[in-house]
Amino acid sequence: MTAPRRHVQVAIVGAGPAGLVLANVLHRAGVSVEVRERAGRAEVEQQARAGLIEHRVVEYLREHGLADRLLAEGGRHEWCEFVCLGERIRIPYGDLSGGAGHWVYPQQFLVRDLIASFEQSGGVVRFDCPVLDVDTSGPRPLVRCPDDVLEAEHVVGCDGPRSTVAQAFPAEADGAVERRYPYDWLTVLAEVDRPVDGIRYALHEAGFAGMMPRTPRLARFYLQVPPEADLTDWTEPRIREQLSLRLRLEAGDPVLGAVTEVGMLRLRGRVREHVRAGRLLLAGDAAHVLTPSGAKGLNLAVADVADLADTLLRCHRDGGEGGEGGRDGGDGGEGGRDGGEEALEEYDRRRHQAAWTTQEFSDRLLDLLHLPSGDAAESAFGLRLRRERIAHLAAPGPEGEVFARSYGGAGRLHPAPLPVA
Ligand SMILES: Cc1cc2nc3c(=O)[nH]c(=O)nc-3n(C[C@H](O)[C@H](O)[C@H](O)COP(=O)(O)OP(=O)(O)OC[C@H]3O[C@@H](n4cnc5c(N)ncnc54)[C@H](O)[C@@H]3O)c2cc1C
Repeated sequence: MTAPRRHVQVAIVGAGPAGLVLANVLHRAGVSVEVRERAGRAEVEQQARAGLIEHRVVEYLREHGLADRLLAEGGRHEWCEFVCLGERIRIPYGDLSGGAGHWVYPQQFLVRDLIASFEQSGGVVRFDCPVLDVDTSGPRPLVRCPDDVLEAEHVVGCDGPRSTVAQAFPAEADGAVERRYPYDWLTVLAEVDRPVDGIRYALHEAGFAGMMPRTPRLARFYLQVPPEADLTDWTEPRIREQLSLRLRLEAGDPVLGAVTEVGMLRLRGRVREHVRAGRLLLAGDAAHVLTPSGAKGLNLAVADVADLADTLLRCHRDGGEGGEGGRDGGDGGEGGRDGGEEALEEYDRRRHQAAWTTQEFSDRLLDLLHLPSGDAAESAFGLRLRRERIAHLAAPGPEGEVFARSYGGAGRLHPAPLPVA
């Protein structure tokens, strides 16, 4: 028996932050959207990852009515602190950037809000529904799921680094550039007895350590470990001891309670050459992979879909390419094709540039945080150099301002250009 086929203007694969923001914005603008998610609802709504949301991303969400809970319950953060050679150097990036701070709001809370708001406006996310493949042999792509097939004007892969949509790209649009870093990060979620009131980065002979706020009683910690380190070698006492040593936790600092999650993150960066092939488009981690350094992954994912929503609305405007499946009953004409083609090409170019701008920021911060491997004298020299760099970033002046604006996400997402780091 052949699977039932449904027509839709935009099929979105993946209900992470990228897929859900895009679905909300398009659906409210009258575009017919279907979201297919491989995982179950509970898994998607509980996955703790990011927590620092940039100023311009929050502004975009607010303008689209998607930030009510975030603004009511999230915390505002405007400074970070570097611990180096026993000294704490604070960078007031909110002040240095003219007001671009982060909002601290766990990714899983944002995902819950986005699902709720999509459902309230009549949208449906199909959970436990993996997209098996995308067939591009006909005039419109076919998205194959276990129970049905979607025929879409555009298919957007918001399906993470192992994107099924990207696998349907032709060879000439399938290139990517990748870097494997010579260290990994142990990632820890732990309860704390008081809120982490700012982001702390520690540079230490034993390796980098980080402490990030999440909720008033939960914090995210990172520990640099050798590449391919084995998670089982990192017992809880060893983790606590290394966090305390490297972060110089002392009286007045948060005290770690129960460790709720420990993982190993293989650090790599990746940028695809193209995020568009015909009617297939990519956004978020499907298009690029960033390390958590600088907290840019989720933020760039939302920046991608802010741009893509605008691009697709131009394509589908006036019953253009996608009229026949539209919620408002367009006639399926092809009037918008040339304009749409150009808009899609520009999307490809803009996101490629944005990915590299962000990758460069993230990489520069990683370089600052990690000492080159070497002997004790090399470490001492490296630490002293880094202390100077951090002091420059903390002082008013062009260097501090550029760092602060990029870090906190100053400006607007779209259509304003990204700030140049
Ligand atoms: C430990 C950690 C800390 C982080 N901290 C930060 C931070 O502070 N700030 C920040 O900005 N970023 C941070 N990030 C990065 C951030 O979490 C990601 O960049 C973000 O989740 C990307 O969103 P996305 O929607 O593109 O992809 P995802 O969130 O990965 O969502 C992709 C979805 O697609 C689904 N999917 C995959 N394949 C299919 C298929 N075939 N069919 C249907 N569905 C499919 C998946 O199940 C998943 O739900 C962190 C990441 C980690 C791991």
